[in-house]
Amino acid sequence: SRPGEHRFSAVLHRIAEEMAARDDHGAPADYIPMLAGADPRRFGMAVAEPDGTVYGVGEWRQPFSAQSITKVFALALALSLDGERIWRGVGREPSGNPFNSLVQLEYENGIPRNPFINAGALVVTDRLQELTGDAAGQVRELLRRESGNPDIDFVPEVAASEAAHGDRNAALAHFMAAYGNVTHPVPDLLTAYFRQCSIEASCADLALSAGFLARHGVRADGSALLTRSQAKQVNAVMLTCGTYDAAGEFAYRVGLPGKSGVGGGIIAIVPGECTLCVWSPGLDRRGNSVAGVAALDRFTTLTGLSVF
Ligand code: GLN
Repeated sequence: SRPGEHRFSAVLHRIAEEMAARDDHGAPADYIPMLAGADPRRFGMAVAEPDGTVYGVGEWRQPFSAQSITKVFALALALSLDGERIWRGVGREPSGNPFNSLVQLEYENGIPRNPFINAGALVVTDRLQELTGDAAGQVRELLRRESGNPDIDFVPEVAASEAAHGDRNAALAHFMAAYGNVTHPVPDLLTAYFRQCSIEASCADLALSAGFLARHGVRADGSALLTRSQAKQVNAVMLTCGTYDAAGEFAYRVGLPGKSGVGGGIIAIVPGECTLCVWSPGLDRRGNSVAGVAALDRFTTLTGLSVF
């Protein structure tokens, strides 16, 4: 889009210029070869307005690996289909630990701290699998519907690569299974979880798909996915837990509910106003995109928008 064409176009162009001038871009995730090869200087950012208008800068239409961003959509589906029951198996407290950490599970009886660390997301995918028979397919369908992009899909090579390096996620799932907090056979659950993580989508797709969180639960077609109260709850958990052990710093700098993924994407919600998605594959040591967090920090600083 051209500068000035939309509400935040000028701000987006300014941010893209600032990000291009940075010399610290972090390093791409290196735990699977499919992500390790990415150029950390790549950058895209999109804004979706509640009416479905979407625009952006840089590589805002470039599909990338959504990874943990899908955890938001899985949670929304589980809440929408089964309400409060999900909270029997997963908490709502920030963990203060890395996204793939095992340490808290033992003294918390196999109940993960929150749905946005891997252990908690495995529980959500397990329940969604129970409810629908195809957790990953349901997440893909939600993204396709809300974005209007029927090409959003799994990347089988990414899922296979995750599986080949999946000992840690397998350990999390087995450990929770020992407490009865995972109902499916662990290999089946991991297959669903890795497929869900492997979904590729662009900043435009993900900003549009998260629109229901800015519209207080209302989907693109006007129907309700979540109640107003549930949308608030998902946003609250994103604010406190969406960027793992950096959630405090993210709230401090950005001031919005956000969810990151190791593919370098971050979605952020300005309730009632718009949704944002930024992508840049270079990560910090917590697994959050360096330029992504910086760009969102600049967005809320320049516009004055935040939940505070
Ligand atoms: N697929 C990744 C994993 O399970 C997702 C983690 C993330 O994006 N933080 O390790």
